[in-house]
Amino acid sequence: MSLDKYNEKRNFKKTREPKGKKENPHKRLKFCVQHHLASHDHYDFRLELDGVLKSFAVPKGPSYNPKDKRLAVMVEDHPLSYRNFEGIIPEGEYGGGTVMLWDRGYYKIDYYDENVLKITLYGKRLKGSWSLVNFKDNNFLLIKENDKYANYAKINTFKTSIKSNLTMQEIKKKYLNK
Ligand code: MN
Repeated sequence: MSLDKYNEKRNFKKTREPKGKKENPHKRLKFCVQHHLASHDHYDFRLELDGVLKSFAVPKGPSYNPKDKRLAVMVEDHPLSYRNFEGIIPEGEYGGGTVMLWDRGYYKIDYYDENVLKITLYGKRLKGSWSLVNFKDNNFLLIKENDKYANYAKINTFKTSIKSNLTMQEIKKKYLNK
């Protein structure tokens, strides 16, 4: 099943991330974004589809400027419960580092074909229409559409968790000895 890869990459005796199991789809499709300070600082953009979270690593994070095309690399599917995950992944484990729940909400699919997925996001921080354009293998571009939310905000002004209100440093401190 599509979460095998997710489970194979992780040692659940060591990481506090949720085990991968498929869930029943929600009526309204969920999405979340995690800010992940690992070997590379990046954002993980995750969209519910068929009972799992389709996941993309976005090195620079999303941008509200429609002129920006942000690389989004599709990675292994994650379980739906991952949308609530915040904490640390131990050093030496897959994705070792600090994970902040940066945004969550629901979304709807407006259009899709072989190469393009157009969605509307209803998050706390990410809103309005966005496109994911597949240009090569697992590589996509995440682009803000020109709508009333274009240039709505600068992504790096949001420095705290939408779940705990903690900063990266504070999350690291809180979970380090647990
Ligand atoms: Mn990540």
